[in-house]
Amino acid sequence: MSDIRDLLRDELRGRRPYGAPQLDVPVRLNTNENPYPPPEPVVAAIGKAVASELIGLNRYPDRDAVALRTDLAGYLGHGLTVDQVWAANGSNEVQQQLLQAFGGPGRTALGFTPAYSVHPLLAAGTGTGWRDGHRGAGPGFELTVSEAVEQVRAYRPDLVFLCSPNNPTGTALDPEVVAAVLATAPGIVVVDEAYAEFARPGTASALALLGDHPRLVVTRTMSKAFGFAGGRLGYLAADPEVVAAVQLVRLPYHLSALTQAAARAALAHVDALLAAVAAVTQQRDRLVTALRERGLPAADSDANFVLFGGIENHAAVWRALVDRGVLVRDVGLPGWLRVTAGTPAETDAFLAALDQVLEDRP
Ligand SMILES: *Cc1c(COP(=O)(O)O)cnc(C)c1O
Repeated sequence: MSDIRDLLRDELRGRRPYGAPQLDVPVRLNTNENPYPPPEPVVAAIGKAVASELIGLNRYPDRDAVALRTDLAGYLGHGLTVDQVWAANGSNEVQQQLLQAFGGPGRTALGFTPAYSVHPLLAAGTGTGWRDGHRGAGPGFELTVSEAVEQVRAYRPDLVFLCSPNNPTGTALDPEVVAAVLATAPGIVVVDEAYAEFARPGTASALALLGDHPRLVVTRTMSKAFGFAGGRLGYLAADPEVVAAVQLVRLPYHLSALTQAAARAALAHVDALLAAVAAVTQQRDRLVTALRERGLPAADSDANFVLFGGIENHAAVWRALVDRGVLVRDVGLPGWLRVTAGTPAETDAFLAALDQVLEDRP
């Protein structure tokens, strides 16, 4: 046993596998999933599409997933074409491929904490040095232009990870920050837009900047707004040279024929799938209002979750909520917890449990 641990790469020693607790409680609001299953006609279409692939399973799939990437480019719009889009098993895999291609030993990536905790894990897994930058100390953890630029100048990273809307704060980045980082960073700038479809009207997407910025990469996912987390499909939009670069490191046939078929069938029903977004954002806004009414600070969210503060012993409150059947996320920020916007009934259950917990506090 210990022999194996001694053989492990230094940077992986003592680490635990990533993952939020998957506890079997009635109300699970901890992984930002869409609470609504795909509508029946979409389920039927996906079933048909997958079934039609089965007879060809003796053959490898299209390793370049051209048809799927064409569909994704059409969905994104902005005049994007298939050579500017790449897909893999979740946007985490896309980001791992970016680190394999542009990071690696002797190179560094910079993120602005609190942000998506998977980014540093992917850096560690690819032997890329991680620079833990910081966001502002204000209640919304805002990242200002000057603070972002200062950190990029100081670290000169090979890759910068921005996240907008940001997980766990829920806030979208000021477009000026993205522009300033692009103007300052010497290397690749990744904007993780996993929650883009939940953003309030008028929120800028970095997709609009792609034409002028060949070092910009925008990553997206079908895991959240599309309610396709189990299907595992993430993608990026970037300069064709970036797409060519990740093709150097992707595993041969990384995206199964079944995944490609299922994702294409889902994309053919975009409107039906995204119909749930309005219901989810309604609950999100309700959560923000309700939390503030309880005196707990919560920034306006452009995602499908809300980060709320004012929680003195956040680990104990997390546990007390679990004991009442409600699972939220402890993101490791003292005084703060993150709650996913679910169904109206889930919001009711969360608020009722929270009220009990806050009342019971000494
Ligand atoms: C959930 C999430 C993802 C999605 O990862 P997938 O691998 O596509 O499921 C990516 N980025 C952020 C910031 C997320 O919160």
